[in-house]
Amino acid sequence: MKTFHCGSLVPGCNWHTRSQSEADIVSRVIDHLRQTHGETEIRPSIVEQIKARTSDDQDAA
Ligand SMILES: [Zn+2]
Repeated sequence: MKTFHCGSLVPGCNWHTRSQSEADIVSRVIDHLRQTHGETEIRPSIVEQIKARTSDDQDAA
């Protein structure tokens, strides 16, 4: 699983999401930025920042 914490992009925000798919995380984060942070213009650089801050969970299953 991969995890993204919004607080790494927007200080103070506790929202986070997890998914198997990086593309899924990017799409959820963009929805969150639009709905919660009022971002109307999603720049390509934001997608790169989301990917850079998405980490793999190291679950020893
Ligand atoms: Zn947020």
